[in-house]
Amino acid sequence: MEPVNTTAEPKKERPLPTLIAIDGPSGAGKSTVGRLLAHRLGYRFLDTGLMYRAITWLALQRGIPPEDEESMETLAVRTHMEVPKGGRDAIFIAGKELTTWELRSPQVEAGVSLASRLGAVRRALVAQQQRLALGGQLVMVGRDIGTVVLPKAELKIYLEASLQERAWRHYRALSEGSRSLEQVMEELRHRDELDQGRAESPLRPAADAWVIDTEGLSQEEVLGEIMKLCRD
Ligand code: C5P
Repeated sequence: MEPVNTTAEPKKERPLPTLIAIDGPSGAGKSTVGRLLAHRLGYRFLDTGLMYRAITWLALQRGIPPEDEESMETLAVRTHMEVPKGGRDAIFIAGKELTTWELRSPQVEAGVSLASRLGAVRRALVAQQQRLALGGQLVMVGRDIGTVVLPKAELKIYLEASLQERAWRHYRALSEGSRSLEQVMEELRHRDELDQGRAESPLRPAADAWVIDTEGLSQEEVLGEIMKLCRD
């Protein structure tokens, strides 16, 4: 029989991070991988891009230009948002469920980065995001989650990939019909510029984020990298 070392400490499992922030530019794979990660861990999932899209959609419905700060602030402060259970690509806004079709229309696509530049809109939506994060066990994705919304998140990830690859992924997700690949690339380039160049919470990795270049990696490979970081 092997001698038993009674003095050895049993290896302790580190607890999983309870708040996970994933940031990065459009098309870097945040939402798909974030949703898979949440499912794998049994966590809730919040795609904050949908909140900026939803407020832009509502403004357009009401004839409010997305760059009109005063009206947009009133709208953002008064509009209560909830996420559907089960991580669907949808959001409840003022009791109505908005789905992919409304949230990703070309009009919303064109207006969302104008709305998200406004400090008052950001403050109102960040407050709602922080409310939704109470209770933990959440994967939240966006542009400023690690830097502003959840600065104390135990795990912060920043995903990136080239503009060409991101445009291609976006184009395929739009089922290749409504816009040409060149149009999608141009929209993304324009949105990157606005998101990185704005004064309020510009897109950038948090100082303590793990940066993962997803170029050429499958969703499963990216998920595997993040799962390793969760357990390390
Ligand atoms: O992630 P998605 O492409 O759906 O986000 C749409 C837009 O919402 C982004 O281009 C950005 O302008 C804005 N956004 C943001 N901050 C977040 C999430 C999204 O400014 N946390």
